[in-house]
Amino acid sequence: MTKQIVLASNNPGKVREIGQLLTDFHMEVLPQSAFDISEVEETGLTFVENAILKARHASRHSGLPALADDSGLEVDALNGEPGIYSARYAGVGASDEQNLQKLLEALKDVPEQQRTARFQCLMVYMRHGADPTPLIAQGTWEGRITVEPQGENGFGYDPVFFVPEHGCTSAQLPAEVKNRLSHRGQALRQLVRLLAERS
Ligand code: IMP
Repeated sequence: MTKQIVLASNNPGKVREIGQLLTDFHMEVLPQSAFDISEVEETGLTFVENAILKARHASRHSGLPALADDSGLEVDALNGEPGIYSARYAGVGASDEQNLQKLLEALKDVPEQQRTARFQCLMVYMRHGADPTPLIAQGTWEGRITVEPQGENGFGYDPVFFVPEHGCTSAQLPAEVKNRLSHRGQALRQLVRLLAERS
């Protein structure tokens, strides 16, 4: 039987990726926009805190189990920035393009070997808004920041995230390849294992 869950995100890139990844698991993923749920303020100082805030908010307002992720890019030469501030690196409401240009500018004097970075994803599943034991999964994807954007797929920092094993940016990878490798894909597969263990 298919189970309905709400996804605590309005980011179309994420909704698409997570929806694709969960089609095999008999879960119908409804975006929180289907319930007119506002975005909660991300006041946490860690990815996991923000993911819990988002899942709790979506579950309370929809009455359904909720899945939330909080993700971002950690750049070593910037002491882990933009981190939890990845979506608003160039300011609240900044576009992907503005965030990415700010990143390239911050790294303009940093040589290739020191441009190491990783995407992090924390994913949380809550059975209801007061669930005291949310399931928590984490995925990490290592790469390097390029000097200019390349590729049209994906979203966010994908055009500047170089994936060494494939010799291209994550925006040049087909969606199914990105889903297999990515921080979000890893976290989601781990979460599905945790769900299976609990049921
Ligand atoms: P969140 O919506 O608060 O989790 O913010 C995540 C932000 O991190 C996004 O808006 C992107 O800027 C960045 N990000 C997370 N995952 C990815 C990815 O797979 N590709 C590119 N950028 C990502």
